[in-house]
Amino acid sequence: MAGEPQADCLFCKIVSGEVPATVVRESETTLAFRDINPQAPTHVLVIPKAHYPDAASLAVGAPQLAADVLHEAGQVAADEKADRSGYRIVFNTGSGAGQTVFHAHAHVLGGRGLEWPPG
Ligand code: IMP
Repeated sequence: MAGEPQADCLFCKIVSGEVPATVVRESETTLAFRDINPQAPTHVLVIPKAHYPDAASLAVGAPQLAADVLHEAGQVAADEKADRSGYRIVFNTGSGAGQTVFHAHAHVLGGRGLEWPPG
């Protein structure tokens, strides 16, 4: 069922505490933790605690929760002072776009210059 924890999902295991993570922010509905393989000085993942496989299914199934994720992404950028020079919020969606964990997550990237177009 949409939103229910999935036994084989890494990020559901981080939400439950089964897998450790460096948590930087938590709200009732979201969790933000440092990416294990950072691509920038600030690289934090913001996830809904409920399981949705990607950003689009989150937006359709739980629009307020999608808004919560974006709100927390902005707060992470402010906490890390990444908002001073600009930052990027990325939702890789689908394996062809580089999604490897199929639990919706926003990458918050900042603390260095970010080129466009992305690779
Ligand atoms: P995706 O490739 O957009 O799906 O992003 C998944 C991200 O999760 C990658 O940037 C990984 O480095 C990151 N990641 C994988 N396992 C862990 C973990 O256990 N803790 C924190 N980040 C992780």
